[in-house]
Amino acid sequence: MLSSNSGFQRFSQAALSRSRFLRLAAGALLPFVGLRLSAAGAPKPELAQNTGAPGTKDAAAPGRMGAILVGQFGPVKIHSYLSPADGLQVNTQMIEGPNAVVIFDGQLLLTYADEVASYVQTLGKPVDRIILSHAHTDHWSGLQVLTERFPDARVFALDGIADQLHARGQARLDSFRPIYGDRIATKVTAPTEIIAEGVQRIDGITYDFRRFVDAESDLQLAALLPEQKVLMAFDLVFSPNEHAFTLVDHFDHWVIILESLKALQGYDTITIGHDTPVHRSAIDSTMTYVKRAKAIHAASADAKTYSESLKAAFPDLQHAEWVDLSAKLLYAAPR
Ligand SMILES: [Zn+2]
Repeated sequence: MLSSNSGFQRFSQAALSRSRFLRLAAGALLPFVGLRLSAAGAPKPELAQNTGAPGTKDAAAPGRMGAILVGQFGPVKIHSYLSPADGLQVNTQMIEGPNAVVIFDGQLLLTYADEVASYVQTLGKPVDRIILSHAHTDHWSGLQVLTERFPDARVFALDGIADQLHARGQARLDSFRPIYGDRIATKVTAPTEIIAEGVQRIDGITYDFRRFVDAESDLQLAALLPEQKVLMAFDLVFSPNEHAFTLVDHFDHWVIILESLKALQGYDTITIGHDTPVHRSAIDSTMTYVKRAKAIHAASADAKTYSESLKAAFPDLQHAEWVDLSAKLLYAAPR
């Protein structure tokens, strides 16, 4: 996401409630566990605070607005920061290896990027690099904060992403400013390094970087962690509990990509761009959603009809306001 400000006023400004967080944590896919939002209240047995390892005291926890889930995969930890709803529940993934941390994506709102940075600092390891998954504003606005807080970290993305940010990034930020004021970035922070496709090792962890075009976005990175059997799908896969963003008319190709992800064997855990990690069955539910959205798009002459029909088709999914936003952008483009 995102290129317009439509509908944003309706996003809650409130931080995640405790009950919401407990639901998130309880529903989180093992082996992820939740870190409590606040020091207030007794910890639930299924939740873990990040105090188990030396040097990992989470100083920011008492006032933290977002939620953090931590998955342990042998020597590798995946920390997932999830923003509150007004930040579009966007994730920043932090891959902690033996010596360093690799950060994926930078949040929409600076306040949440700042929480990410404070959390990373509690891990006590340098940030090796920051990798941007795609050029939608909710994933990169907060890079402004992360690059200030970690000035030695290089910022990577697929070839073409930086060009997209240079071409359209400032206009995107300006469109958000009336809603978010100084919570949105003041300047574009574009990646300066190109991430190579294919297998590479960073801090002893094997990544298999994949390039996808014409899905939820025009250009999208995904990463396989073959040793951990984790697929980092970003906005290629959405939660089965929520609407997906359908901003551009790439429905058919998105389904083809989802089929290719489904063909990957053994990747049961998928981290996604919005909300907590999901089981691989979310590939199927995303495919069902995209196919239905395509049919509704074909049958709908305007954004309002598309939005109403898609909501009616999936009445139980959360974030109906995301559909309004998708419809506005989908129908703003030439058909
Ligand atoms: Zn997104």
